[in-house]
Amino acid sequence: MTEKTPHFNTIIVGSGPAGLGAAFHLAVSGGHSVLIVEKKQVSSGGLRNDCKQNYTYPVGFPTALWDEREATELLIEVAGILKPEYQSRTNIARYVTRAARLGAKLLEIRQAHVGTDKAVDLIHGLIERLRRMDVTVALQTEAIGIDHDNHRLWVNHAPGAYEYNNLILAPGRGGFAWLQNCMSGLGIDYVDNVVDVGIRVETRERNYPIVRDYYDPKILFPNGVRTFCTNSRAAYVVRERYQTYYSVNGHSFSSAHEPNGLVNFAMLKTIGLTDPVAAGQQFGRILGEMAMNLAGGKPMMQRVGDFRLGKRSKRETFNEDLYDFAPTLASATPGDISLAVPGKILRDIWRALKMLDTIVPGVLHPSTILYYPEIKTYANRPAFIDEYFRVKNDLYMIGDGAGTSRGITAAWASGIRAAKGILAERKV
Ligand SMILES: Cc1cc2nc3c(=O)[nH]c(=O)nc-3n(C[C@H](O)[C@H](O)[C@H](O)COP(=O)(O)OP(=O)(O)OC[C@H]3O[C@@H](n4cnc5c(N)ncnc54)[C@H](O)[C@@H]3O)c2cc1C
Repeated sequence: MTEKTPHFNTIIVGSGPAGLGAAFHLAVSGGHSVLIVEKKQVSSGGLRNDCKQNYTYPVGFPTALWDEREATELLIEVAGILKPEYQSRTNIARYVTRAARLGAKLLEIRQAHVGTDKAVDLIHGLIERLRRMDVTVALQTEAIGIDHDNHRLWVNHAPGAYEYNNLILAPGRGGFAWLQNCMSGLGIDYVDNVVDVGIRVETRERNYPIVRDYYDPKILFPNGVRTFCTNSRAAYVVRERYQTYYSVNGHSFSSAHEPNGLVNFAMLKTIGLTDPVAAGQQFGRILGEMAMNLAGGKPMMQRVGDFRLGKRSKRETFNEDLYDFAPTLASATPGDISLAVPGKILRDIWRALKMLDTIVPGVLHPSTILYYPEIKTYANRPAFIDEYFRVKNDLYMIGDGAGTSRGITAAWASGIRAAKGILAERKV
């Protein structure tokens, strides 16, 4: 006798914030069956990492797809589940004024921070809550294919397939390639023409004291440059492997960890591509590989003191005299980032850094380290057929992998939007 294929009203691929946002909204509405399929033991995206949650539009929201009213409304629902403890923000009026005088803008946003060491507990707690609301969660189960004509999702082990009424794909940035395959297979058009390229700055906290008043200061500079993902207290720079290169990134541990007196943050420039290189991922790969070629297969680092003098940094002198703190990403290669960063990008970022040094004097101390590359590629954004991120009847694509978000809370809000679409269709 053959086993019947298990059936769910809604199947969600990916248990990152986008998938969880959809699952919670559907579960709270009740009355239908939901399955989450997650290929890892624990969800792998930003919830799993530093987990800074931003609760102010437009941080994390691609403005082409979101307006302030809707994002703000959904962020209330996100906060209702995640129960953020907002960081206090004090004494920032002087920074706001200085930024405005220079033509930059310091965004005043609501933030909460969990910390890399506590994020796993948060995720386990969320999954448990979903299970108590009768959501089925299949961990270590990878979605490998879709037969949408027959509403069937193939997975990599028993039962081998599931049937659905509605399917939400939320595989995150790590699921780019898979999602792209799905889109090609289903005849869904997509674009991928944006990439963020920049450097990660590491300095002593005393050189960037704004973080004592504002945990992750978001500052917008001219020419599409912005600060991104600031980490302090117990902060480390890490490298992440992308197929042919490493990109740097930053982490910090929760306040339970011993502080190391360092801060790191990214200065990113957003680049929109047209023709003939119209793929952000392709451009990111070209730049990443260039940096790897120059730095022996590792990210590069340079002290600001050397950079200002147009000299490469060297291993022998990297920790001498004024260069009085050790890099947290010690495996990076001391070098000359200006050999690797395209001129237009470096010019705009350096100009923004000089502005930042006027807003928060001290950040360009000679000891400050510039790591390169930090590259954020974005999704192949599908052609959506409605405001619920539907790409075909009964099929939705959401989260960072589909270009509907660039951060935890916006990804979660994307999930809510898709769930609303499903509920509006009443095919549950
Ligand atoms: C190191 C790091 C730190 C970050 N820190 C922050 C931060 O502090 N604050 C912030 O706002 N944003 C942060 N981000 C960005 C944030 O992670 C994303 O915006 C957010 O997680 C996107 O949510 P998502 O649900 O779209 O994707 P993800 O969170 O990536 O989740 C996708 C999930 O789908 C699973 N999956 C993929 N393919 C399949 C498949 N075929 N079958 C089954 N499961 C699959 C993955 O394992 C993953 O768990 C960080 C990102 C990284 C990489």
